[in-house]
Amino acid sequence: MSRFFSSRYAALTPYTPGEQPQDQDYLKLNTNESPFPPSPGVAAAVAAQCGKLQLYSDPQCTGLRRALAEHYGVKPANIMVGNGSDEVLDLAFCAFAGEERPLYFADVTYGFYPVFAAKNRLPFEVIPLKEDFTIDPADYFGKNGVTVIANPNAPTGLALGLDAIEAILKANPDGVLIVDEAYVDFGAESAAALLDRYDNLLVVRTFSKSRSMAGARLGFAIGCEALIADLETLRYSTNPYNVNRMTLAAGEAALAEDDYYMDNCRRIAAIRQDVAGQLEAMGWRVLPSKTNFLFAASPAMGGKAMYQALRQKGVLVRHFDAPRTRDFIRITIGDEAQMERFVNTVKEIEKEAA
Ligand code: PMP
Repeated sequence: MSRFFSSRYAALTPYTPGEQPQDQDYLKLNTNESPFPPSPGVAAAVAAQCGKLQLYSDPQCTGLRRALAEHYGVKPANIMVGNGSDEVLDLAFCAFAGEERPLYFADVTYGFYPVFAAKNRLPFEVIPLKEDFTIDPADYFGKNGVTVIANPNAPTGLALGLDAIEAILKANPDGVLIVDEAYVDFGAESAAALLDRYDNLLVVRTFSKSRSMAGARLGFAIGCEALIADLETLRYSTNPYNVNRMTLAAGEAALAEDDYYMDNCRRIAAIRQDVAGQLEAMGWRVLPSKTNFLFAASPAMGGKAMYQALRQKGVLVRHFDAPRTRDFIRITIGDEAQMERFVNTVKEIEKEAA
């Protein structure tokens, strides 16, 4: 740290992104990316923007917001677009939380939540998941600050039903509920269905997972016009050109070919069920996932040892070294051949350890 680094941030522990190794060809099952490339229209749309890069992007994101609004049955004024859903979450935390309105989130959830809270100096309270890693909605009743729930949750993969989400909304009429639906397309129910009845609900989505565009950085929020207007005020106060021309065009093209992505999601869900079954047959504990990853624990060794052994054999998964998660590894679902290699590698490791 330099002597010039602001004391505001002296105690900040930055987020640790999943490894993106540049040196060796790993089987990458560590950051929940899609194994499938974007649909063909995306490449063409991006190429068409290359000759226009001398021009700023549209700060209003007009075309993409219109397309998203049509897709989700809302108005463009109900949509805010960001540089990945990480940016959307950061702005939403800033917009709605504060001294009088703390943030609430689970103890085992997306690791960026406490980092955004700390960076923005927002008070937060961590609410433990139940022993089986599920959420008890009642733990969130009477929390009139800003509750953020990843649904399905990461890294557990567990999903909460809409009845539970609605119960939390009803119990906190003066609080904002942010539902982070990064993984919703792989089999969970979207809270977007509740938007016309609750003005305190913000649904956050990403193109990074189900729509194969992690590298393009595109996320968005859907909410009532007043919440979106607040987010737009902050976005215009930070970076009105937050989403570049190529990404805006890629997003629109992807929406026009949505069947391709939804087919991919079904394929990934089928592979996930197959791999979960194989691991269970080998004695693993596997949480029931509604996402494009599995959170699972080997009977043969702890999560860190399994992560390291897999890495040694060229397979990257994620391990979270915290008391409640240390037995587990998080495995992104790749295509059929990749997952066959993963399962075979695990078998090899367990045999060597026996
Ligand atoms: N929410 C959750 C729960 C995530 O796991 C991730 C990706 N790591 C994000 C949000 C952020 O995704 P992105 O910024 O790529 O849209």
